Amino acid sequence: MRIDLTNKVALVTGSTRGIGRAIAETLAACGARVAVVGRDLAKAEAAAAEIGNGAQGFACEVGDPAQVTALVEGVEKAFGGIDILVNNAGITKDNLMLRMKDEDWNAVLETNLRSAFVAIRAAQRGMMKKRWGRIINIASVVGLIGNAGQANYAASKAGLIGLSKSVAKELASRNILCNVVAPGFIKTDMTDAMTPEAVQALSSQIPLDRFGSPQDVASAVAFLASEHAAYITGQVLTVDGGMVM
Ligand code: NDP
Repeated sequence: MRIDLTNKVALVTGSTRGIGRAIAETLAACGARVAVVGRDLAKAEAAAAEIGNGAQGFACEVGDPAQVTALVEGVEKAFGGIDILVNNAGITKDNLMLRMKDEDWNAVLETNLRSAFVAIRAAQRGMMKKRWGRIINIASVVGLIGNAGQANYAASKAGLIGLSKSVAKELASRNILCNVVAPGFIKTDMTDAMTPEAVQALSSQIPLDRFGSPQDVASAVAFLASEHAAYITGQVLTVDGGMVM
């Protein structure tokens, strides 16, 4: 079984580094032309040049709905449409509920959840015309099981799951599929900030006994973007070494 995304255009938010970067590289390796997105244009363009296969860099602060809408329009103009939308950009602003500020709640919900809603709303029109589309939202196992100190993050990721199931039902008749990939603990800048003790404690809860790699997540995304996943929609695929089962 080979994944062939030739002639597809993929927009991947947060693809300058980490999981999004691995997703962009993998989709490009499967033949897709990729729009690489980060907050800084020079960084996004540099990443796109490294990824190759016609990838282009775009700047977007996904917490700003106007910028997200403009991003979708800009990518459609540059590439002639969007076939695969991966909402990956995400942030954490952890704190115990008692100390969590309204602005930390809002920033995480706006960056992680509202951005996906706005991007899907903007991209669905083009997908509906083509009667083909793949929307993949990157949530987290924390959206399934919660986590002390991450009320904002867990709510945003659980919200992505509800959003995705609704989108899946709303757009299925147009052959637009929407699924969620929920990673467990993956080695990136986001998790490099953890103490060795925290890493040890968490690893002991993972049956496969290691953190995942960005590639582990990217492989799942490439499968869901491909023709091999044509009968799968509204699902949550956990990529977590068996942590949540
Ligand atoms: P990183 O922090 O390593 O990378 C985040 C990416 O998102 C970067 O490309 C960054 O680009 C971009 N980004 C961040 N904020 C914004 C913003 N406001 N607007 C536009 N782009 C932004 O994160 P990971 O790769 O670890 O995580 C990627 C996704 O996977 C996130 O949604 C995260 O919640 C999720 N996830 C990660 C897990 C993990 O263990 N690492 C576990 C479960 C889920 P730049 O800095 O260039 O702007």
